[in-house]
Amino acid sequence: MAKPSTFEGGCLCGRVRFVAHGPALKPHTCSCKLCQRHTGALTAAWVEFPASSVEWTGPGGTPATWRSSAWSSRAFCSACGSSIGAIDDQPTVALLLGVFDSANRKELAATSHSYVSPRPKWWHVHSDGEAG
Ligand SMILES: [Zn+2]
Ligand SMILES: [Zn+2]
Repeated sequence: MAKPSTFEGGCLCGRVRFVAHGPALKPHTCSCKLCQRHTGALTAAWVEFPASSVEWTGPGGTPATWRSSAWSSRAFCSACGSSIGAIDDQPTVALLLGVFDSANRKELAATSHSYVSPRPKWWHVHSDGEAG
């Protein structure tokens, strides 16, 4: 078996940094209104890890959170405001691919798109991982 993969990333200012230990689970894109407001982007690209597989390594420690639903909190850097991801009660940590140092890895390729309908009709989302 290949050695487990590691992923690193962080916010704009560098206060929040993470090391996530693979496997990366459920890579997907989402265009729901919560993701749109959280990120400012029309579509967010996500990947999930068990909470125990994510270490917060930056000087800011664990990111700030805002309770966004009954089961999850949105995580962000309180210094620069960068969206980092979502910390679920489950416990799962979902990280936004835009904060990864490099998302150019096959295991991060989205295989599904959630909540397609809130996106504007002129906004097309496609990933190589998708069938259609
Ligand atoms: Zn920051
Ligand atoms: Zn969403």
